[in-house]
Amino acid sequence: MKYYSTNHNTQPVTLEEAVTTGLAPDRGLYMPEQIKQLPESFFQNIQDMTFRQIACCVAENLFGEDIDHDDLQNIVCDTLSFDCPVVNISENIWSLELFHGPTLAFKDVGARFMARTLAYFANKDIRRKKETDGENGRSRNVNVLVATSGDTGSAVANGFLNVDGVHVFVLYPKGKVSPIQECQFTTLGHNITALEVDGTFDDCQSLVKEAFADNELNEALRLTSANSINVARFLPQSFYYFNAYAKMKEKELADNLVICVPSGNFGNITAGLLAQRMGLPVKRFIAANNANDVFLQYLKTGVYTPRPSIMTVANAMDVGAPSNFARIIDIFNNSHDEICKTISGCAYSDDEITHAITECYKSYGYILDPHGACGWLALHENLTRGEVGVFLETAHPAKFKNIVERYIGSKVAMPKRLEAFTHGEKQSIQMTAIFADLKHYLLNNAK
Ligand SMILES: *Cc1c(COP(=O)(O)O)cnc(C)c1O
Repeated sequence: MKYYSTNHNTQPVTLEEAVTTGLAPDRGLYMPEQIKQLPESFFQNIQDMTFRQIACCVAENLFGEDIDHDDLQNIVCDTLSFDCPVVNISENIWSLELFHGPTLAFKDVGARFMARTLAYFANKDIRRKKETDGENGRSRNVNVLVATSGDTGSAVANGFLNVDGVHVFVLYPKGKVSPIQECQFTTLGHNITALEVDGTFDDCQSLVKEAFADNELNEALRLTSANSINVARFLPQSFYYFNAYAKMKEKELADNLVICVPSGNFGNITAGLLAQRMGLPVKRFIAANNANDVFLQYLKTGVYTPRPSIMTVANAMDVGAPSNFARIIDIFNNSHDEICKTISGCAYSDDEITHAITECYKSYGYILDPHGACGWLALHENLTRGEVGVFLETAHPAKFKNIVERYIGSKVAMPKRLEAFTHGEKQSIQMTAIFADLKHYLLNNAK
């Protein structure tokens, strides 16, 4: 299947090309040319299937033409070594816990799937080169550049650790990432290099963007992005939505399903919208935001006005210009009416978020992280009679221990997996926020 650019100024490309380049040459985002419906029988039996089995069917539907069957099954099974349970909070509100992966964030699934898919295509490339050039056939490394304010870097670094043929450079703002997040990508070594930038997260993101736009760098090196602009990172997130439906159907609660997604770059919710296009019966979606509410403003006014991001307690959602907005517009053919029929929006201040953490713990004994708190609050305020709401709990509360403990008034247990990272030795390369320095470094150190 081919992938087209949301800017429509470039020829459609193969999955391999879309994954290994990230952004389209016309700066648009790649989208699959067709979203095939899954058969009726799949939905009839879905409640009896495991998360892995469900994901294998969905992956086959999305990528079956482009990745050999057995390899695709292996990629899915390697990616999903954990389950994502639903937990009842109160009456008709449920939490889908997406934080049971290696770095305790929902981004683990997309990052691991993308890493294995890139490795698959890198291998294929080597075999192709061997056939044409004999034993001298060599494939070039793929270099993944990723800017992070914390969560993306840890998920991507761990997802790509020791994957052959791929090197990851994580750019992060010095002194602005929590210690627990920092150690998750600075202690790994091997094919993971942490670049500690003397600047802000926005500087890191600009550096990465400049790198993708630099001709000399792109001729010398193969560069791709592991942010949710990459199709191999964002599409697999649709597995979660089928899993949520299956778990709710098993409880006979799936008829009027409302799914609420704490959103920043809107990659996760976009994967949900595509799940719906594949036939998943979801009544409606809610996009929950922190104070960065450009999407809510778009819903209200029909005008999309990106802004610089504002720092909040739910920092993985501090995005002022959500990149996947282009995909949402594309899915709905630019119809504001259609978008409003399917998605509603909410935005919460830091006070509202922290109050929700206290309230949900006091009333129901459930510990929310600041991102999930936006999701819970949105359902708490907006669900109507007869609807069943599932919000995606996107990070383990221990990742935001300081904030959460302050607002629940007791300790949050630190999972062993998270604790283990804190014992590693930090290795990072100091870097200025000047592009010429990054370029010089990459030309001399990347393969
Ligand atoms: C990345 C992230 C989000 C936002 O997801 P998007 O796909 O960018 O909308 C929400 N919560 C957590 C914990 C995250 O890490």
